[in-house]
This record gives sequence, structure tokens and C-alpha cells, in this order.
Amino acid sequence: EAREARETPHTPEARHAPDGAGARVVVGGAVLRDGRLLAARRSAPPALAGRWELPGGKVEPGETAPEALVRELREELGVEVVPVARVPGAWPLSPPHVLQVWTARLVSGEPEPLQDHDALRWLTPERAGEVDWLDQDRPAVAEVVRRLAAE
Ligand code: C5P
Repeated sequence: EAREARETPHTPEARHAPDGAGARVVVGGAVLRDGRLLAARRSAPPALAGRWELPGGKVEPGETAPEALVRELREELGVEVVPVARVPGAWPLSPPHVLQVWTARLVSGEPEPLQDHDALRWLTPERAGEVDWLDQDRPAVAEVVRRLAAE
């Protein structure tokens, strides 16, 4: 039926809409311990190297975002985390990727920059503005810091 066809999200707009059908989700983790937020400095690619991010990566087919977050932080930092809650929002990366952020509790291991990063910091809410966050991570970081500061 023509009406159904128009509503089927196969347009480029739908593919690239944040949270829309076809969007490829990148999950970032706001890892919290003792009231501090973990920040990770990217070592690659050149365009992003030196900028700080919420560590994470692409959700693979068949994975949920929290599952991907657990896998990525195990690979990149050598730690075990438990995802806690999604930070509302979705932020566009290069199409078709969108960033979603989950808070997570560190349950074991001491994070080390094993892959993709060359420095880590545990930031108090007061100091979260001291690092040069990737632009796309800033709104989520601001929300997490607002919540931490209110605790
Ligand atoms: O880590 P991975 O290469 O799988 O991440 C995919 C892309 O998502 C990266 O190239 C990076 O640009 C982006 N990303 C981001 N913010 C994050 C994590 C990843 O913009 N917190």
C-alpha cells in the first residue's frame, strides 16, 4: 500500500536520523566511581587524537547497547562494568552513526589504556571541564556531571 510505503523509513533522512531506523549506535560509557567520572584520551585517528571521550564503541549486530558497552570497556580498558542507566539523548556522529551514553558502575579492575587511548583521568564534577572533550560527548558529560554534583 502506498501509504505504508511512504511511512517505511528507507529515506536517507530516516537512515541518518538520531535514533531512527538504520542508525548505527555507538555507545559511550560514563563510568563512575566514588563520585568521579572516567575520561579517556583518544590516541587515534589523527583527527580525534588528544581529545577526551567517554570510552566505548560501536554496537555490533545482535548486541544491545549495554552489552556492547561491557565488551568495549573490557577490550579497551581491561575492566568489568555494569551499565546502570541511559543518559537521555542521542548525538549525531558521522552518518549513519549516533552516540548514546550509559552510566556504568566499575565493578572490577583498574582501568588501563590498552587500546584507542593514551591517558585516563578520574574527574570530580568540579574538574570535568578541564579536559578537551570531543564535541559530541559534551552534552552527555554535562548531564552526568550535573547529576554527580547534585548527589
Ligand atoms: O571506539 P570506536 O572506534 O568503535 O568508536 C566508533 C566511533 O565513535 C569513533 O570513531 C568515534 O569517533 C566515535 N565516538 C565518539 N564518542 C565516544 C565514543 C566513540 O564520538 N564517546
